[in-house]
Amino acid sequence: MTKQQYDTYQYFDFDIVQYQKALHSRVNEKIDAIRKSNMSGIEKQEEIRKLTIRRKDENRSLLKKHGFHLHFVDGIYIPLNPSWENIAVNLSGGADSAVLTSILANIIQENNYNITIDLITHNRGWRNRPWQLPISKVVYNKLKDIWGDTIGSQNTNFIPPELEHGAIGYIVHEPKKRSGDQIIVEKYNEYIAYEKNYQAIFTAITKNADLDIAPEDRMLNRDVDIQKADIHDLAICKTHFWELHPFKYIEKDWVIKQYKDMELLDLLKLTRSCEGDGSSMQGPLAGKDAFWYNSDKTVEECGLCYWCREKQWALKENSIEL
Ligand SMILES: [Zn+2]
Repeated sequence: MTKQQYDTYQYFDFDIVQYQKALHSRVNEKIDAIRKSNMSGIEKQEEIRKLTIRRKDENRSLLKKHGFHLHFVDGIYIPLNPSWENIAVNLSGGADSAVLTSILANIIQENNYNITIDLITHNRGWRNRPWQLPISKVVYNKLKDIWGDTIGSQNTNFIPPELEHGAIGYIVHEPKKRSGDQIIVEKYNEYIAYEKNYQAIFTAITKNADLDIAPEDRMLNRDVDIQKADIHDLAICKTHFWELHPFKYIEKDWVIKQYKDMELLDLLKLTRSCEGDGSSMQGPLAGKDAFWYNSDKTVEECGLCYWCREKQWALKENSIEL
């Protein structure tokens, strides 16, 4: 992604958080005034409706007008706004999200920004991959050890395995296909951004590596072409926060290289990218479900799934043996 594309949302020195608060109180005062006015019920409804729509539009244009200061990290741009106060990263417990959190924390500390990073973990597969949430907590604690107060709290959300794409496919069909887990992730993030006042939520989705193993159907949105790169894939302006995907055009070998460059291999060792689970009847995880597992047990990576193969490839590219 070129700097010019991000420059659509150039940063100017401006306290976006204070301005957003001012916008909300201005609109609220108007709504209260309409409520108390002598207008008819229908007129009041109409005026309030217009105001709430305008609030959404103004909030969005505020975000866009006072977008990002770009931080160049090993060939890619990481967008951040120095006047933000709270941001969050979707932390799965895998290598990508832990390194993105570290890169952001490093930028914040080097530039003396007053920004706290919270984490959001979507607890998925409790029945057949019950170690995923405990591993995300281990990774979270390690991030706190490394980066101190720059790391805030960890929010956890729950996704019923029955609504995962792998279980029932898409539940919303053409033109915008959506699986249950996609909807839950997106809507929880919208809610928690509102609840905790996050100015941005980062997701560390990377591009599919060019391996001889086919990615699953649900991962096809990771097959992106840098030649067709569009800023709207990386920076999505929601009504009240930015959804940011700075890794969309990079592959896993870049991610692993950052662990090496930042000397964070201890952190890498604690992450788990494997999505193999205890429901499979073959391989090392067979039968390892929620009723087999407890957090004292270590669970090996399956070595067979796409994510294991991608990680092995990326480690090899960087000559790292864990
Ligand atoms: Zn695996």
